[in-house]
Amino acid sequence: MRKRTGKLLSAVLAVSLVMSLGLGSWNVSAEAETAEAVTEAVSEAEMAAEADAAGGAVSFTPGTYEATAQGFGGDIVVSVTVSENEITAVDITGDKETPTLGGIAVAELGEKMVAAQTPNVDGVSGASVSSGAIIAAATEALEAAGADIAALDANRKDTSAEPVEKTEETLTTDIVIAGAGGAGMTAAIKATQAGKSVILLEKMSYAGGNTTKATGGMNAAETHYQAEQGIEDSVEQFVEDTMEGGHQINDIDLVTTMAENSAAGIDWLDEIGAPLPKVSFSGGATNARIHSPEDGSGVGEYLVEAFTKQLDNLGIEIMYNTKATELIQEDGAVVGLKAESDTTNYTIEAKAVILATGGFGANEEMYTQYRPDLKGTVTTNAPGATGDGIVMAQAVGADLVDIEQIQLHPTVEQTTSMLITEGVRGDGAILVNQSGERFINEMETRDVVSAAELEQEGCYAYVIFDQHLRDNLKAIEKYVTNGLTVQADTYAGLAEQINVDPDTFTKTMVAWNSAVANQKDEAFGRDTGMENPLSTAPYYAIKIAPGIHHTMGGVKINTKAEVINTDGNVIPGLFAAGEVTGGVHGGNRIGGNAVADIVVFGGIAADSAIAYCGE
Ligand code: ADP
Repeated sequence: MRKRTGKLLSAVLAVSLVMSLGLGSWNVSAEAETAEAVTEAVSEAEMAAEADAAGGAVSFTPGTYEATAQGFGGDIVVSVTVSENEITAVDITGDKETPTLGGIAVAELGEKMVAAQTPNVDGVSGASVSSGAIIAAATEALEAAGADIAALDANRKDTSAEPVEKTEETLTTDIVIAGAGGAGMTAAIKATQAGKSVILLEKMSYAGGNTTKATGGMNAAETHYQAEQGIEDSVEQFVEDTMEGGHQINDIDLVTTMAENSAAGIDWLDEIGAPLPKVSFSGGATNARIHSPEDGSGVGEYLVEAFTKQLDNLGIEIMYNTKATELIQEDGAVVGLKAESDTTNYTIEAKAVILATGGFGANEEMYTQYRPDLKGTVTTNAPGATGDGIVMAQAVGADLVDIEQIQLHPTVEQTTSMLITEGVRGDGAILVNQSGERFINEMETRDVVSAAELEQEGCYAYVIFDQHLRDNLKAIEKYVTNGLTVQADTYAGLAEQINVDPDTFTKTMVAWNSAVANQKDEAFGRDTGMENPLSTAPYYAIKIAPGIHHTMGGVKINTKAEVINTDGNVIPGLFAAGEVTGGVHGGNRIGGNAVADIVVFGGIAADSAIAYCGE
């Protein structure tokens, strides 16, 4: 016992020394050496404390302590204030985090830490990088305050809310929409603009779903942006490419509807202040067709921000943390739904219901039910993508299509499940295997590239790009700041970083650059994304492998976004749009078609629901 007290004392003395040097608010990152000494002393104390009975007394050196960690978008600074035996405040600054994901962690975790009296609280699902950074920085700051983290954990305050008796509430509206991702928000905006009352439910504490994660853009043909940039394209070619990419099992009527309405979708985005003027090539498309934001930012975050702003302007409050659980059916027609929050069971009576709950790529039990071979595969999906809408629709007789069609994305960084956008290859990156060689036309469709990767040694590959490409694609900054890249000033240097034979890798790079110069890829027949050679140092590599990305199958709809039952008839009052539906993408979704799907069919679902509501 005495030993433990002595060691704790030495930790406290070390901290006191720092405090007495006038560093009342101590910037840990600026004082690394002293921090090391203190951490060492503290960890010795920790070990002693652990050896002792769990639940030792909590004590701090009062003051405010600050530490910095790398978040998803940039630095996150955590400032912890402690009294002698209590964490009194945790302030977090991290304005570079994605507002709809990491931003939630920045806003919420401080309060959770104060409530639990430990830095080790549950992070925000879907924002693991930001949450992890906040927890690491808070831990570092608390250690500097002389905290014994093991003791804090042992003395954790129970923050689980007392079980409350839920209240029952009935709400009435014209249209209730389940899911505030791209499709649900599009439908909500359109229906409200048409004068209908709308309730929009979101089971998570933030909007955006998988839409937030879309990094490429929106495919659209015959748009004014293409015309202005002299790009020739056609609705017919868009349909053909989508059918080809989807192995011809797509519902051609749905595909045609999406293609025919895509240019109008781009115009609508212009109208609501979310223009996508940059047009480029993307895998599986014959022409430059993928439309993205001017500044190169990820299309999903960009649209979700614009949609939420628009919803705010229209006075629609998303009901967060409210999960749709069941459709209400009367005489065959859907007339509302049941939903629940932590405190309330809702019965929402509506003239029409739109399901926009997304896919099921985050529900391992569900996807392995349809595809046992995918067990254990990492997923790029948002945590809300659990297939709820599919299950609810089935319960009222809806038919499903292509449910076993699940897309692997070929470029997923495996330790973070972070998706490396197709734009990187579209702008000129190549893939090499562990032998330092290319092995596929990188612009092939996702299923083809994924399958090719799985045939390589170790079932992975590296995305290779250069500084010129980095300078022109904003998305890359996130990969660099999150430590996913390795880099070197020469090809041979990069090869060494990734343990690839330098001569082979250099030959691969030289051969690729000459293919770009000649605009002819003899090796694999690539003919797009070849505008620039990879010749501006430094050079970069990211190790990637396939990950679950999109569930193509889902609820069967017709071209009016009406849900179809197993007898082939429309279920009156029930509409669906986006990833919850099947048929648009067939056996493989082309990059850029998810956003086209949500904008076009989100809009159509709203139009059909509006018409169904009547005057
Ligand atoms: P889409 O691209 O089709 O719009 P997203 O994945 O972007 O799909 O959005 C679907 C949204 O629906 C997500 O925000 C998800 O959290 C939400 N969601 C899923 N299930 C439910 C449910 N049962 N109730 C309410 N919201 C849900």
